[in-house]
Amino acid sequence: MDEAWIRAVVALPFGLAVGSFMTVAVSRLPEGGSVIRPRSRCPSCGAEIGARDNVPVLSWLLLRGRCRRCGERISVEYPLLEVATAGVVVLAAIRFPDPWQAVLVAGLLALMPGIALIDLRHRIIPNRLTYPALLLFLPVVLLAWGIGDAADPVRAGLGLLLYGGVLFIVAAISGGMGMGDVKLAAVIGLVLGSLGLRFVGVAAAAAIVLGGLGAIVALAMGRGRKSAIPFGPYLAVGAVVAGLWGEPLAAWYIGRFL
Ligand SMILES: [Zn+2]
Repeated sequence: MDEAWIRAVVALPFGLAVGSFMTVAVSRLPEGGSVIRPRSRCPSCGAEIGARDNVPVLSWLLLRGRCRRCGERISVEYPLLEVATAGVVVLAAIRFPDPWQAVLVAGLLALMPGIALIDLRHRIIPNRLTYPALLLFLPVVLLAWGIGDAADPVRAGLGLLLYGGVLFIVAAISGGMGMGDVKLAAVIGLVLGSLGLRFVGVAAAAAIVLGGLGAIVALAMGRGRKSAIPFGPYLAVGAVVAGLWGEPLAAWYIGRFL
């Protein structure tokens, strides 16, 4: 348990840094902007946001959610996104003693809150997140297999093809799902599949169950299918559930129903 705390302390700054990066991705990627340059500016008055006002979570709290110059409100979604991203990274580090598996799962889960927020706001999952993710995770899976003996590249490939393939078929038939969902599922299938296909199964099952519940809630609230929540956030939550609790959930399901 002591070692888990050390891993959590090491993971926290990485989680906050990725969370901060994701807030930039959320505000710029859907408009086609760069995530690297220029420096962040207040969308209202255009003032450059200095380093002291760019500290994850803390700056937002100190400024009470307002721009230092013009006082315009800064959405609470940004610090919440930073907290959520750091939270899943730290939990993944606690959950996986193996450093390779911790990096793979923490890296995957770190993308999920930001992708879910972008999809909720704009109804898209940017290729500029999913393609680099595929390109980055592929060599990490191979290194984790070759050096760490902690991942299975064959199952990773199967996970990518199965999860991505199933969603591709659903997207082709129903039209209610976009190619962004397909690519996100492929990324999730690759990373979770490298740990074992049962993790992919749990991710898919959780996404379907939560998506079904969400649809029922939307219907009960009198919302039509058009205004329904996009599927990306369910895929993202499913990946988080499977990444953190895939093992016990798969064991529970097999023990109870199989
Ligand atoms: Zn301002």
